[in-house]
Amino acid sequence: MRVPLVDLTAQFAPLKDEVMAAIEGVLDSMHLFLGPNTAAFEDEWAAYCGTRACVAVGNGTDALHLALRAADVGPGDEVITVAHTFFATTEAIVLAGATPVYVDIEPDTYLINGEQIASRVTPRTKAIVPVHLYGQMADMDPIMDIAARHNLVVIEDAAQAHGAEYRGRRAGSIGHLGCFSFYYSKNLGAYGEAGAVVGSDPELMRRVRLLRDHGSEQRYYHQSIGFNSRMDEMQAAVLRIKLRHLAAWNAQRRGHAETYARLLAGSSLGLPRIGEDRTHVWYVYVVRSEDRDQLQRRLGEREIGTGIHFPVPVHLQPATRGLGYRAGDLPHTEKAAAEVLSIPMYAELTRAQLDWVASSIEQAQSASTLPVGERG
Ligand SMILES: *Cc1c(COP(=O)(O)O)cnc(C)c1O
Repeated sequence: MRVPLVDLTAQFAPLKDEVMAAIEGVLDSMHLFLGPNTAAFEDEWAAYCGTRACVAVGNGTDALHLALRAADVGPGDEVITVAHTFFATTEAIVLAGATPVYVDIEPDTYLINGEQIASRVTPRTKAIVPVHLYGQMADMDPIMDIAARHNLVVIEDAAQAHGAEYRGRRAGSIGHLGCFSFYYSKNLGAYGEAGAVVGSDPELMRRVRLLRDHGSEQRYYHQSIGFNSRMDEMQAAVLRIKLRHLAAWNAQRRGHAETYARLLAGSSLGLPRIGEDRTHVWYVYVVRSEDRDQLQRRLGEREIGTGIHFPVPVHLQPATRGLGYRAGDLPHTEKAAAEVLSIPMYAELTRAQLDWVASSIEQAQSASTLPVGERG
């Protein structure tokens, strides 16, 4: 049985008529940018996240970059974040002119270790960027406490956590600004590039709004140097349709995660831990194994799609060599990169597919306990 890691065609089929009509509506109007769909989506996404405002931007990387700049993060500033994340988190910090400073993750949630943050604060520290990885929010209360104590800005990287909750509050609504990607494979995905910044501070949000459109509020009048990072109307129209399904899709993902947890409870794999007071939205379902590569190969032989999020930690990438980190500096991050494996997760998975994935994992695992000489 073929089970892909993600199946976006299964999601598109039931939405097709509505999506095509919405795209046709945008094209008929020829209002392609900063029109009624973008304005409506901004209101709807802010309401969903529980913030006063939202600024729709071109993608998630820009969301982070513009948020950092709006918060006045720039050259000479340090930004505390993690190295176990998609590369864009660091890229945005460097693009803003600042220096990323990494702390390690908690080994069982894969999220930023809040206790290590305080030890990395220096007089140059300006911001903290916690990443809500895999669909689960970081432990925000201690992070907000440290930030308040040292007068730091907190910018949430919520690109993998649409609708995730921490003590009843949604991702993006706890820090000073929250950043989302609507890359097509995310829990809420456009059919092209899209992102958003949410927040409740009017001045910060005004600055993000200026930065996304050439520093301009009124066409051809420019108050500051900005960027071109607008979300286009077709993506906004698609996102408005999909947003109405997000809660149901997240609930289905949650159900699948519970099924996996039950079916895999007896295996020797490391299973994900859900932190206290949190609602996980399962952007990916990540297991860990010291025999990860072999497990991945065996599942591939059975046409089960898997992924590695992420195989090389950010601090050990060639691109970040100049920051001066070395192997061994972030032990939990480095171990996770060597052991994590994402198994199929999307709302439309069937029970038969979940059973097949779980039984295939079990068989792959028992095969790997054969004497060393007989291993494949
Ligand atoms: C996807 C992602 C981004 C970047 O979003 P894009 O829309 O691809 O630019 C940033 N951070 C994390 C954690 C992500 O998963």
